[in-house]
Amino acid sequence: MLMDPQKPAPVRRTVTCPNCKGESVYGPENPYRPFCSARCKNIDFGAWASESYRVEDSTPRQDGLDDENGSGAAR
Ligand SMILES: [Zn+2]
Repeated sequence: MLMDPQKPAPVRRTVTCPNCKGESVYGPENPYRPFCSARCKNIDFGAWASESYRVEDSTPRQDGLDDENGSGAAR
């Protein structure tokens, strides 16, 4: 069902922006919700992306596997 043009504007709902803890409009007029602005959304996504990259970067370490096995057998 499409929006009724006769309908008055709905009550403005706001949430707390996860980035700046400010007030952010939670509605179709704010495509960045729950963030208050594109800037806040980009900052949050950037932090998430860099963290993800860091985790992936430190993952490849298979050198210690052999050492760990030998140490356990010796004791
Ligand atoms: Zn914000």
